[in-house]
Amino acid sequence: MIVLLKPGAPREEIERLRASLLTAGCDVREIETSGACALLAERYWEDPPTDLISQLSASEHVERVIHAGKPFKLVSLEIKGQRTQVKFGKSTIGDGSIALIAGPCTIADYESLAETADAAKESGAIGLRGGAYKPATSPYSFQGFGKDALRTLRRVADETGLAVVTEAMDPRRVEIVAELADMIQIGARNMQNFDLLREVGKQPKPVLLKRAMSATVDEWLCAAEYIAREGNEAIVLCERGIRTFERSTRNTLDVSSIAVARTLTHLPIIADPSHSAGYRRFVKPLALAAVAAGADGLIVEVHPRPEQAIKDGTQTVSTDEFRGIADAARRVAAAIGPHEDAFVM
Ligand code: PEP
Ligand code: MN
Repeated sequence: MIVLLKPGAPREEIERLRASLLTAGCDVREIETSGACALLAERYWEDPPTDLISQLSASEHVERVIHAGKPFKLVSLEIKGQRTQVKFGKSTIGDGSIALIAGPCTIADYESLAETADAAKESGAIGLRGGAYKPATSPYSFQGFGKDALRTLRRVADETGLAVVTEAMDPRRVEIVAELADMIQIGARNMQNFDLLREVGKQPKPVLLKRAMSATVDEWLCAAEYIAREGNEAIVLCERGIRTFERSTRNTLDVSSIAVARTLTHLPIIADPSHSAGYRRFVKPLALAAVAAGADGLIVEVHPRPEQAIKDGTQTVSTDEFRGIADAARRVAAAIGPHEDAFVM
């Protein structure tokens, strides 16, 4: 249950309401909304007693008591009332520009990563991606070069000025990934790894939360709520394709989820056309569709020589192709015009 207060509600009144909620047996957390504050009561989420609701609603400083609705609160647009921008290195995601992140599926050698990063930067990318710890469906598939790859990623980031995002798969490795990365990726296969979500929620680096291949939008936003609830609201959502009956692409980019999620959450949303497509030739059209649907950015698998990529080569575009995608994405965004005003976290 959420008690939304009117702007300027006096501190004594907020404390009085908090005391009523505590007496009713709730855990209470105060959160900031646009220009006001709200009390989040963590017990009566679904069915609070009606006398408690009337008692809270009776206060002249209470705007609204929300006791039904969605199972996520902190990430909800309705409750926060304004969009969030997430700082990624020196750049910002969700500020109205199209945030472009490019790089190989998996980090291999320094030279090819540096070459990718230079080209990505020239095409206007703000970020470099690359896996050091790779989720793999088969235990016999390549699992990444681990800490050495993280160090290579950091070195290239420092040399190019690009911010870097890389995946953490194990709660025990969040600290090392957070130390070397500017944003921590939670992969599709780990979207409901609740211990991992809590762990990234406890540290300050932003989190890129990919949607699981079979998750509904509500389940995706509940996963984001796990992170936010630990204190970290610097979350960027990523639609990366869902599993459908269609076999001509690796996954099906759910463009509607981008439009839907924008109405439900204040968090920025980017799209991954590479894992959606599975094949290089579909990456550009899917990227443009995502931008047209309201994506705040794109994360694309790029390699100077895609056929030499250690993993996901078939869906990896060349640096030249990436330039074409970046230019076209900016043109689509310009044709659509600015999204709503937002604020920097
Ligand atoms: C990746 O980004 O390389 C990756 C493995 O993505 P996903 O978790 O979406 O499959
Ligand atoms: Mn990949």
